[in-house]
Amino acid sequence: MGINTENKNLKRIGIPRAISYYNNYPFYFGFFKALGIDIVLSDKTTTKLINQGSQCVVSDTCLPIKVFVGHVINLLDKGCDTIFVPAIQSSAYKVNNCSKIRGLPEIIRNVINRPFRMIEPTLDKTENIGFKDFCKQIANEFDIYDESKIDSAIVEGWAVYNSFVKMTKSGLSFEEALNCSIEGHVITKNVEVVKPVSVVIMAHGYNLFDERISMRLIKKLEKMGVKVYTGLNVTREDCVNSIHALDEIQYWANELDLTGAAAYYMLHNKVDGIIALSAFGCGPDSLMVDEIQYHAQKRNMPMIHLTTDEHTGEAGFVTRIEAFVDMLVRRKRKMLENRNILQLNAGVQKNKVRDEKILTTSQR
Ligand code: SF4
Repeated sequence: MGINTENKNLKRIGIPRAISYYNNYPFYFGFFKALGIDIVLSDKTTTKLINQGSQCVVSDTCLPIKVFVGHVINLLDKGCDTIFVPAIQSSAYKVNNCSKIRGLPEIIRNVINRPFRMIEPTLDKTENIGFKDFCKQIANEFDIYDESKIDSAIVEGWAVYNSFVKMTKSGLSFEEALNCSIEGHVITKNVEVVKPVSVVIMAHGYNLFDERISMRLIKKLEKMGVKVYTGLNVTREDCVNSIHALDEIQYWANELDLTGAAAYYMLHNKVDGIIALSAFGCGPDSLMVDEIQYHAQKRNMPMIHLTTDEHTGEAGFVTRIEAFVDMLVRRKRKMLENRNILQLNAGVQKNKVRDEKILTTSQR
């Protein structure tokens, strides 16, 4: 249902570059293309766009929602008046999104006082509204009812999405994998780059891969010589199994990118530290970060929690990251020194036993 009714024959949809864009855009790209619907993307997040979004909502709304509102305004300013605002309630049975993502169309309807048509399909696996229903709702809004056409568009969507996943699992960055998948190429990285220290970042894709929100956290860390892992590098099964291995359950829809990824790298001892990046005022994140902090402490794994909102200054952010990386480097050096000393001592001890043996044999 839309706020007003625009010409349904105009097959064009505006997709805000926020929230579900960061998880699902490869699918949306393949799906809409196969249905013959043109996509208009909002521009990348800027301070101006955040300010425009912030002015429309109450101040304690989390940053990603302010950003989403800003992207809707950006699309309207570009002259695109059919906008995709999905209501993703649950992604599996009783695996829920937060209330703001569940009620995203309601938020947009109530805060943007301009005429436009909203495409607002619902996905709610807890209530048996599955992915195919979600896709049908979208197609029907454009007067497309042919089931076989919708089915093949879904297949096209998954094809683009699967190639994106394959590339991210092999180590390509979000941006590289996204660009390649929508251009129809598949490139995989076969050699893993070894760096002095490594970290896993637990964060929602819409916080981490939006370079304005994360203040280019990944690039900053890589410049400091840190190997960075994210939820994109781990399979869904590994994330779910790792959550269970910590005796926890998956409750939140985006949990695999947070507790799943952190748990996997921590349990497999693959990183030297954990960085949690979350939006100030986010309820689900505060629970997930606490959960991982508890397990990290038990395993003596260093962890830092960075929160961000529209006022977060880059200088303070960088200082905290630098201090954390510096601590990881010193800690690792110390651990390697201790290991060398132990190996050296073990060598001396071995030599001492051997010498005594030689002595007693020669005395016979
Ligand atoms: S999960 Fe947190 S950051 Fe994301 S929309 Fe909900 S409250 Fe905001």
